[in-house]
Amino acid sequence: MTPVIALVGRPNVGKSTLFNQMTRSRDALVADFPGLTRDRKYGEGIYEDQRFIVIDTGGLTGTEQGLDAEMARQSMQAVEEADIVLFMVDGRAGLTAGDELIADHMRRSGKQAHLVVNKTDGQDPDIAAADFYSLGFESIFMVAASHNRGIRSMLELLLPSE
Ligand code: GDP
Ligand code: MG
Repeated sequence: MTPVIALVGRPNVGKSTLFNQMTRSRDALVADFPGLTRDRKYGEGIYEDQRFIVIDTGGLTGTEQGLDAEMARQSMQAVEEADIVLFMVDGRAGLTAGDELIADHMRRSGKQAHLVVNKTDGQDPDIAAADFYSLGFESIFMVAASHNRGIRSMLELLLPSE
């Protein structure tokens, strides 16, 4: 069985950057402005000998209308398809109202998600994480996707060992 990992979270938190690192491809568009990746993108990755599929999504804002609603639909579809859901937040921006709304959404979907705090480069990890404890996730991974930091140890814990 090939595990499927979905990346969800607000636009601009670094989902496509993480997708690229996990798949080592340039498939997903990485851009400075939110909302560019509207569709779900599938990539294949491998860690040690374990293959996995990763799904990049356009992002959720928490309050969805129009185009946002379509992105939200794609994100929730990805959640449905996934064995492992990674809810990404921006460690630089800190906790936002949008994050809280998405966390709420995830809870109601009944799918267990892991919290991934990105952009921890140049930050005190304890301080960067503290902001997000109130979201109530059991496990928090600290990563810096653009620096390829924290990703391997996260996969080590997430993927089934043979
Ligand atoms: P997405 O909208 O969630 O897919 O976010 P992107 O992957 O497009 O990234 C948004 C911005 O955050 C880009 O400018 C990235 O270069 C930047 N970014 C991504 N990961 C990191 C990180 O670990 N540290 C820093 N400082 N910036 C990052
Ligand atoms: Mg993106």
